[in-house]
Amino acid sequence: MLDFPHDIHTHSAYSDGVGGIGDNVAAAEVRGLRLLGISDHSHYLTGRAFNRYIREVRRWREESGITVLAGIEANITHNGVDVAAGMVEKLDYVIASVHLWLDDPEEYVELVKGALLDESVDIIGHFGASFPHIGYPDEESLRELIELAEASGKAFEISSRYRVPDISFIRECIRRGVKLVFASDAHRPRDVGSVSWSERVFKKAGGTKEDLLFGEFL
Ligand SMILES: [Zn+2]
Ligand SMILES: [Zn+2]
Repeated sequence: MLDFPHDIHTHSAYSDGVGGIGDNVAAAEVRGLRLLGISDHSHYLTGRAFNRYIREVRRWREESGITVLAGIEANITHNGVDVAAGMVEKLDYVIASVHLWLDDPEEYVELVKGALLDESVDIIGHFGASFPHIGYPDEESLRELIELAEASGKAFEISSRYRVPDISFIRECIRRGVKLVFASDAHRPRDVGSVSWSERVFKKAGGTKEDLLFGEFL
């Protein structure tokens, strides 16, 4: 059992996941989560599909005994974060992630800085997932990034799928009051709530409920 049973990063068949939103909710209930976030990819959710998506998440929120939030996973691009203002107002939160293939870790950091300055963004998704492949940015730029998150009130997810960020980054977030959230990045219902790595590293870094973005729901 988890001490902080939540998962804010799950996909459904509304984007590249399998299974319906209701299947994710059912899986979350079985696993004893108190908070589930649905966060399908923004580029699948255009026009009517977005409105259907929001309606369906809200319906499951009514029917479920646990808190179900409507999120989205937007892309951090060279032209900004791809979520429209009209969408943001209907969402409970926005995750922004780098999905571009970059070969320079400092370029990655610059893109994330842009997202930290974007007022539609709440959470940075799987920060540093590609560092093992493209190399690591220097300590100085990581520190600047966390300072910027502190100043702009943004959170980072702790991704069990990619096992990022590392513990020293998480410790620094906690030290500066930058909020954190657990994320499975499940693409099928049976992976919903697979956040034990997130919780383990969070606790090891000294995290408590006050350090979690959605702690009030737990
Ligand atoms: Zn992603
Ligand atoms: Zn994802």
